[in-house]
Amino acid sequence: MSEARSQLHDAARIVIKLGSRVVTTPDGAVDEDHLSHLAEQITELTRADKQVVLVTSGAIRAGRTQLGIRDRSLDLPARQATAAVGQIELMWRYREIFGKFGQPIAQVLLTQLELSDFRRYLHLRNTLSTLLREYRVVPVLNENDSVSAEGVQIGENDRLAAVVASKLDADLLLSLSDVAGYYDRDPKREADAQLIPLVREITPEMEKVALDSAGLAGRGGMSTKLDSAKLAMNAGVIMVIAHGREPNVIRRIMAGDEVGTIFLPKADKLRSRKRWIAYATLPKGKIVVDEGAAKALIEAGKSLLPVGITAVEGEFEAGDMVAVMADQAGKQSEIARGLVNYDSADLRRIQGCRSKDIRKQLGHRDFDEAIHRDNLVLL
Ligand code: GLU
Repeated sequence: MSEARSQLHDAARIVIKLGSRVVTTPDGAVDEDHLSHLAEQITELTRADKQVVLVTSGAIRAGRTQLGIRDRSLDLPARQATAAVGQIELMWRYREIFGKFGQPIAQVLLTQLELSDFRRYLHLRNTLSTLLREYRVVPVLNENDSVSAEGVQIGENDRLAAVVASKLDADLLLSLSDVAGYYDRDPKREADAQLIPLVREITPEMEKVALDSAGLAGRGGMSTKLDSAKLAMNAGVIMVIAHGREPNVIRRIMAGDEVGTIFLPKADKLRSRKRWIAYATLPKGKIVVDEGAAKALIEAGKSLLPVGITAVEGEFEAGDMVAVMADQAGKQSEIARGLVNYDSADLRRIQGCRSKDIRKQLGHRDFDEAIHRDNLVLL
């Protein structure tokens, strides 16, 4: 087994994208047999204490079938309407099938807004991490196609999956669709095209080949997949593209088999997101914490709670990066940086408060933590 593949076994947080043709039959119905096969493999991962986020396509396809629409070129309102029908069909089946394996699931529908607006993203992130860590639920994501249109449209689930994988600090992104991997030429046009098992860098030539074949593959084509791979690689996430109908595809990938194409990021497991938090911008303000809180952060890997805050300096918004300062006998030293859940005014009102008293002070209690562990980097 190659070294590149052997590390997949250790991936703890995995985003799996299932393409339309993986979850539906050729006539557009939800493919219960195949979805069961995948659900069984996914449940094995969660039983092994891995966190799995699914990104599913197929809402529009399933909706079209439900409504008996044969026309493939739907206009926007028709696409939005079919998605509304298909999404519940899809989720109903998902719930039933994962239920057979005792694996609870949850539905989260997104548009570009949740990915690009930090406040919204913070909520999304907190929802997903609570589902994953506290409830051990598999979140099933899709674009909210029924309301998503120009301006806020993500468009391709490969892109959605890559953005989510990079922002959630996933270790691995699996893109399972109806292509077996990345080929040196377009396999649909050239019979002797070769599958490339390992990619360390996406070159302009690769992008050109993918673009040339984009017209054929259409939605979710190789060009989008390469863009996603780039996004993932830049964030330190490994991506594997493989055929979602290959038997035991998830098991085999996790076991290190040479299935599909693996895209290896340059920065080996160095958390680029965390690096970004720590170094990309200058802190907007300072939060001074007491000794107990400093210890909890440094020694116990905990989140920063309002109760441990003794002072808030500067003006900042929720979502801004702030410096966390320890106060030792009147001398401050920076111990961490993180993205803060409350703005400076709110934080001043809740500093020193127990989490249960946040609501009393603010009239709302959106978060227990001032800075969640996931958004915090120790320096
Ligand atoms: N959101 C679309 C659907 O569920 C699929 C988009 C894609 O596959 O890229 O039908």
